Amino acid sequence: MIKLNFDRKLDEITNIIKTWRSRHLTVYGKVLIIKSLLVSKLLHLFTALPNPNESFVKQLNTELYRFLWNGKIDRISRKSATLPCSLGGIGMLDIDSMIASLKTTWVRRYILSQNTWSALFDLKIGDGSFLWDRNAASLRVLASRVKNRFWKDVINSLALFRQCYKIDVNDISSCNIWFSDVTKYTGNVEKAWYRKGLRCLNDLLDANGSIMEFDNLKHLYDIRGMQFSYDMLIRSIPRHWRTMNKQKCFGPIIHPAIGFILSHLKGAKYMYNILLRGIHEGHVNKWERKWDAQVGINDWPKTYRDIFKATKSAQYRALHYKIVTRTAATNVLLNQMRINSTTLCTRCNISHETIYHKFWACPLVQKFWRDIHQWLLESGATGEANDFNGKHVIFGHGVRIS
Ligand SMILES: [Zn+2]
Repeated sequence: MIKLNFDRKLDEITNIIKTWRSRHLTVYGKVLIIKSLLVSKLLHLFTALPNPNESFVKQLNTELYRFLWNGKIDRISRKSATLPCSLGGIGMLDIDSMIASLKTTWVRRYILSQNTWSALFDLKIGDGSFLWDRNAASLRVLASRVKNRFWKDVINSLALFRQCYKIDVNDISSCNIWFSDVTKYTGNVEKAWYRKGLRCLNDLLDANGSIMEFDNLKHLYDIRGMQFSYDMLIRSIPRHWRTMNKQKCFGPIIHPAIGFILSHLKGAKYMYNILLRGIHEGHVNKWERKWDAQVGINDWPKTYRDIFKATKSAQYRALHYKIVTRTAATNVLLNQMRINSTTLCTRCNISHETIYHKFWACPLVQKFWRDIHQWLLESGATGEANDFNGKHVIFGHGVRIS
């Protein structure tokens, strides 16, 4: 039944793609269509039903990327494509992250509602208030025990979110002590202590914000235990928190990651961004490495901004993007794709037509740029005579134009 729902939508999407395929659109335009007309058809199913199987997501991705790159092979990696434009991507949707972010909205619905279904969930899985605080690994263990496919997906999505959400060490007072990211109790709980109300780091503080002596803590919470295990617990908490100035909080305490989900009352966009950041951690775009090796270190965020600042024309933006990402058509590239038999430059017929040659180094192109530079000098837009090179031309910045 679930499969049928998804398959029907996939057919619908494929049909819409057919009507758009023949139009001349830039990648930016296509991403817009993918987001607004195609994937939007699936939002409701992704939210309300258990996750579709992997082959569905794979097939959907194949259809979308085929549309994006005109039925040819991917020009840039999918990881790079899903980056926001400000980081060199084209803001393509990452379907898995989108599904996971939509599922995390159920945590918000759950916590904020008192409906019967949330009571039902409590009965089946346990104490809800405690459940959501757990760290990623513990949530996954929990998910593996849950029979209901839908809730299994919700818990696994939350686990993924927790993994991607970076907690500021200054904010860990509201982090839980048990099944925790910030104490030695990463996969277990001292149940007696938990039941007496010791739940988050804030509970370890006295009214002045200092970490309590064990004797005081024992007295306050009416618990038993060894000084030794308390010392172990305290020592496992990041040193920064132990030594910094803290304030005891007397209100209700909520984990920063859960607080983040609750603070955005609508949609899944903010959760999606966190998940996406998790995917891209440490990712370097391939073209950045190549350009840096060829022309020296470049200010990439500025380059990506300038693509949009330089012109309003979607066509020129797309061309500039292609040049920067080294995916603009050149004879070298066309030769690699077995479309063209020669790699030589169409203009000078001497050198290989690489991106750098085609747009800067070719003697015939150089003449054009010298004229441009002369014109800039004469109009007073640029000062220094040597302040004009291939890097400026390719990336579009460095020359001050007033
Ligand atoms: Zn040439």
